[in-house]
Amino acid sequence: MPEKGRFAPSPSGRMHLGNAFSFLLAWLDARASGAGLVLRMEDLDPDRTRPAWSELLVEDLRWLGLDWDEGYAVGGPHGPYCQRERTALYEAAFRRLQAQGDVYPCWCSRHQRLAASAPHPGETRDLGRCPCRDLSRAERERLALVRAPAWKAAVPHETVSFSDLLQGPQSFDLSRDCGDFVVRRADGVFGYQLAVTVDDALMGVTRVVRGRDLLDSAARQLWLMERLGWAAPVYAHVPLLLAGDGRRLAKRDRDLDFGALRARKRPQEVLGVLAALAGLREEPGPVTAAELAAGFSWGRVAREDRTLSPEALERLFPEKDEKSGGPC
Ligand code: GLU
Repeated sequence: MPEKGRFAPSPSGRMHLGNAFSFLLAWLDARASGAGLVLRMEDLDPDRTRPAWSELLVEDLRWLGLDWDEGYAVGGPHGPYCQRERTALYEAAFRRLQAQGDVYPCWCSRHQRLAASAPHPGETRDLGRCPCRDLSRAERERLALVRAPAWKAAVPHETVSFSDLLQGPQSFDLSRDCGDFVVRRADGVFGYQLAVTVDDALMGVTRVVRGRDLLDSAARQLWLMERLGWAAPVYAHVPLLLAGDGRRLAKRDRDLDFGALRARKRPQEVLGVLAALAGLREEPGPVTAAELAAGFSWGRVAREDRTLSPEALERLFPEKDEKSGGPC
């Protein structure tokens, strides 16, 4: 099978520096290893995503010089490339999991689910079993008359191990570290873990490069792949970009998004700062994506989260820009 990487943005806002940092590393990994690249829009959540953001993502990626061979805006043999248009594929996978007894209906409220999935730091509580997993058939039938259930994966007490290209050897106890997770919401919308697993497998993705916050999702997705009989990709979970005060960059940081950046900077200047943050260059001077691909290897990429220093911010958003106000 040919090697293939992917960009998998959620079009829930304008791309920001943190997204661009992950996309640059995904692009470099693919181009340096001779892999293809696919772009798919993770727009499953109708409340948070908008087609207009997808269009801007495409423009911003192209502006940076990060191209893709297949997917949204270019087409290809594994479409459609928007998750909203792929629900029949998720449905088929879901039915297989149902037939295998790998999922069960859950009537917990969202509040109960959140409480069950967020242990306090340092707490080693077993996240595994939701009480709904042990309901009798009669109880399920009674509850089904009241309202539609969500569906959760019935994860076993099993360890999933893999070697991350950047973070090294990883091991997760599915039940303790991940717990039973939602594969389909009560309103019928499929969950992130199932959709990503189906898409990566059916789009032929062999290399997944994404933020370090999704490291334990790899364990859930590897388990789903195994249950569905699909080959596993390799993973590289890259550092997150943090704002100066230690916060993770988010789409609500409007001042660091590509609308603001593109008004002030050339793509080579932005790439230079990102490459220096990644540890690929000592100095944050201008550089093209192709120049970076020439010497790329994971051994040169920093593992730890990166903080946007005042110097990096000053380089991208010099204060004198704001003050001079232009030639008129
Ligand atoms: N769509 C997810 C995001 O934008 C990324 C999912 C993934 O890479 O697996 O955060």
